Amino acid sequence: MSTASEILDEKEVGTSVRSLATACMFFTMCPECGHVDKKRETLTNHPCQKCGIPIDRRRILFATEVRLLEMIFECYQSEKSNELCVLLFCALLEQHLLNLLKSRCIRLKIEWPVMELLLEGYERVHERLKLFERLTGVKVREALIGQPVASVFTTYDSLNRKRNGIAHGLPGATYAITKEDIKAAVNAAADSFSCFAFLHHNYCAIDSPPLPNS
Ligand SMILES: [Zn+2]
Repeated sequence: MSTASEILDEKEVGTSVRSLATACMFFTMCPECGHVDKKRETLTNHPCQKCGIPIDRRRILFATEVRLLEMIFECYQSEKSNELCVLLFCALLEQHLLNLLKSRCIRLKIEWPVMELLLEGYERVHERLKLFERLTGVKVREALIGQPVASVFTTYDSLNRKRNGIAHGLPGATYAITKEDIKAAVNAAADSFSCFAFLHHNYCAIDSPPLPNS
């Protein structure tokens, strides 16, 4: 299967990237049990494979992220600004993590004001990863062991250092973004949807593990 960067390399610059973005993020969720699925034929009028309840229309799992993913693809095609892919990929991963934590809180029936306090208290990415661990009993990276998309977080770790160098002008930071970094950002951005679909399916559905005991 071709990677997103390979597909973009073959696409004419200026043509729409919407269909590629939509293909990467097409995951649906059962509104009854939270089971995540990628089969288009089960989108409407289909019994959920997990809970068996007939569903008129499954919920689209990812929506707000579409523009970010399109921008990553568009920047990749631009000779002049393709380094921005790295910044946008980091922003995308942070958006995914925020939405995952919100879904997990909703599954645990944590009230909105409490959720907001938690998200304010755990604001940075490493803190939010810690919050995920507190709410599930497992580290994100452990949850992804054996999954082909586990590399999304490894890519984030290496690219985030460069992003911080650029975004915050850290002294001594390396600003050199290579062609490999840009490709890695684009491919990890495309894979991030499978990665977070897996996490939503396992930690935000009705049969996901309960809040761990302290
Ligand atoms: Zn269901």
